[in-house]
Amino acid sequence: MSTLVTGIAELVTNDPSAGAGALGIVADAAVVVADGAVAWVGPATRAPAADVRVDVGGRAVVPGFVDSHTHLVFAGDRAAEFEARMSGTRYDGGGIASTVAATREASDDALRARLRALVAETRAQGTTTVEIKSGYGLTVDDEARCLRLAAEVTPETTFLGAHVVPPEYAGRAGEYVGLVTGPMLEACAPWARWIDVFCEPGSAHAFDGDETRAVLTAGRAAGLELRVHANQLTAGPGVRLAVELGAASADHCTHLTDADVDALAGGGTVATLLPGVEFATRSPYPDARRLLAAGATVALATDCNPGSCFTSSMAFCIALAVREMRMTPAEALWAATAGGAAALRRPDVGHLGVGARADLAVLAAPSHVHLAYRPGVPLVKALALPGI
Ligand SMILES: [Zn+2]
Repeated sequence: MSTLVTGIAELVTNDPSAGAGALGIVADAAVVVADGAVAWVGPATRAPAADVRVDVGGRAVVPGFVDSHTHLVFAGDRAAEFEARMSGTRYDGGGIASTVAATREASDDALRARLRALVAETRAQGTTTVEIKSGYGLTVDDEARCLRLAAEVTPETTFLGAHVVPPEYAGRAGEYVGLVTGPMLEACAPWARWIDVFCEPGSAHAFDGDETRAVLTAGRAAGLELRVHANQLTAGPGVRLAVELGAASADHCTHLTDADVDALAGGGTVATLLPGVEFATRSPYPDARRLLAAGATVALATDCNPGSCFTSSMAFCIALAVREMRMTPAEALWAATAGGAAALRRPDVGHLGVGARADLAVLAAPSHVHLAYRPGVPLVKALALPGI
């Protein structure tokens, strides 16, 4: 069955051969969808016939968001920690360790219900592809369990056993890395496409350069592809390791040296910026303009997690990128769609060229600029098409 979507005031294709500029914009456009894929795009006046017609009434249509960095498998609540951080008062609720404890305690059904509610929440806000990490189990069984649940809702699953050193391994990081690269990796690899590591030398709980390299090389040997939590708090070795080892993405990129920027610009690794984290921790934002000027590929993602950033809204991250990181509305939308697809090495999503997956998001607005122009307003939702 084919569906003609028409009445599109502005269509963002991210396909420069289909329309104007880097966003490939077509005005007064139509899209034909068949078998779950884009079959035709162009001006509505030249649209071919189709079995079904859907009129979106003068709205903008953009590619569904690709959120390439989330932590959606968890239990518990850290609102009190956020409240204390925003109030400037002391609070020690245990941080990530408290989420780990709650996650280990939770039943499969409880974790699954929370996960599915969060995925539905992302979809209701226009996200059509989502990456989901483990990292709150931190035992062989709990990491495998979290990944098995994540694999029920997305193919983009990431093993993050090297999220932090769990409390029971305090002071024995080397031993914990042995567990992550050995039995835990073996149990988790069947459920994961990716492996990730929180590289932050100097942090008591994260991993240094040597440990990061050990985790990534073991993951690659087990058939997983690589991504890295890199350079969030300091200009450590994460970005350069990510580029050297061929990771798809280096995520955070908040503190970069010139050598880091050069490596990202010259390599095949996407710089994924997560401005919701800086917003929610009241920290300085990454320098997106420096990365863009150097020619790096930039993605935007939410990092949705219960501690450092509990938003699932890609539109909010676009607004932050424009207001706080001085990306243009077009650069920010590209980064949240095509950039995310590049960070997940997914040529079938993040654009609406012919052959792409039919992931259309419709805005209650005539142009994509409204995503940043009207922050906090629920303008965008994934378009449900008949037969898909
Ligand atoms: Zn993260």
